[in-house]
Formats: sequence, structure tokens, C-alpha cells
Amino acid sequence: MASKNNTIKLRLLWENGKRCAICGKMIESVDDLTVDHIIPISKGGKREISNCQLAHKSCNSRKSDIMPDEYERLLRYNRRRIMLMRVRRGIVVW
Ligand SMILES: [Zn+2]
Repeated sequence: MASKNNTIKLRLLWENGKRCAICGKMIESVDDLTVDHIIPISKGGKREISNCQLAHKSCNSRKSDIMPDEYERLLRYNRRRIMLMRVRRGIVVW
């Protein structure tokens, strides 16, 4: 549903900033901003914010080409960074 997707996008923006969860760089253009499902819907991932992250359109479509362990490594690295950023901003997560 489009409206739910936009809500998730706004929440991710507010919590994480405009940073791509895949390459770690800033997403400069709204046109390039997509919501990526960490666990793909096709693999049983949920359409919930806990399974969503912001990514460049290009990174999102390239994700399937990255080797799984390489992608996992990137994710772990970026999740840690996002968590630290949340802590710094005083957003209580878990
Ligand atoms: Zn990116």
C-alpha cells in the first residue's frame, strides 16, 4: 500500500537520516530514495519498519548481485552505525 510505504519512508528518514543502508553514502535526491526490505518479501520478510531500510534506487537493484556474505557484512556494519547514530540523537530503540 503506497501510503503505508510513505509512512515507513518518513520514519526511516527521521530516525536514520538520508543515508543509504547498503553503500553507506548520503542519498542526495528524493528520486533516488527507495525503501529496501532487509529480508526480501519473496523470502518471507515482513512489510514492517523493522524489516525496512533506506537505500539508493541503484543500490537496491544491485543488492541481488552482491554475494550474500558480502551483503551481510555490509549490513552489519551499517546497522551498527545507524544504531550509534540513534543513540547519539537520543532515540531509544531497544
Ligand atoms: Zn547506496
